[in-house]
Amino acid sequence: FNFTYKPLFDSDGKVYAIIHAAIDVTKQVQLQKQKDEFLGIASHELKTPVTSIKAYAQVLERMIRSEGDEKKASMVSKMDQQLNRLTSLIGDLLDVTKIQSGKMTFNPVQFDFDSAIVDMVEDVQHTTSQHVIESDLKSGVQVFADKERIGQVMINLLSNAIKYSTDSNKIDVKSYVENGEVIFSVRDYGIGISKEAQPLVFDQFYRVGGNMQHTYPGLGLGLYISSEIIKNEDGRIWVESEERKGSTFYFAIKHI
Ligand code: ADP
Repeated sequence: FNFTYKPLFDSDGKVYAIIHAAIDVTKQVQLQKQKDEFLGIASHELKTPVTSIKAYAQVLERMIRSEGDEKKASMVSKMDQQLNRLTSLIGDLLDVTKIQSGKMTFNPVQFDFDSAIVDMVEDVQHTTSQHVIESDLKSGVQVFADKERIGQVMINLLSNAIKYSTDSNKIDVKSYVENGEVIFSVRDYGIGISKEAQPLVFDQFYRVGGNMQHTYPGLGLGLYISSEIIKNEDGRIWVESEERKGSTFYFAIKHI
């Protein structure tokens, strides 16, 4: 039950009655649980065939390429890129259901922070020929955290920097140590985010300007998942931005 109390005041400001309401939320909670379970099962079921199609597409691309038909090979390669997008969307949905049911697992290991950034920057640089990602990595520290999940956050921030800066081509990545924390930052020179929207971008499903799927595709989950991961690592994640000038996303975690 959800209980609410509301006092009623007379003209002297004295309480003369209290309204008491009890709302049965059992049904709402049950429905929400069913919805979460469905999302979990649906995304899990979608993952299997997509993984299999992806494996076939890669074999097919190699076969066509070896026959020397570049045009057909590049079509299959485009299919493969779209399958990557699909895999990452399904992965995000699965992560959200894991977060909501408290089942997201973390396996901390010791790793070199700057080397992890180099790997992630290389992966993301491969996805774009329009942008140049420049790195200035000065942390030189090791961290003890879930390497995959931290990499996932780096990729989310880097991909957003690319996605929301279609009219500029430069992206700056930095790492440094400050007050016992190691900081990662990604600066873009893209569309930027208004002051009002900045605190909301880490919310689930929030997208600036509602659903702009025609301009920028996405589900509004990447930053929510990233902030949950960083929270779990006892870190902080934040943004500084100015509309039409660009954005800088940061996260800070403890280092060894
Ligand atoms: P998605 O990009 O799939 O919509 P995110 O959770 O990654 O979801 O981001 C939430 C919203 O924050 C985006 O829809 C966009 O409006 C805004 N945003 C995120 N990164 C940037 C960026 N680098 N520049 C401008 N806006 C951004």
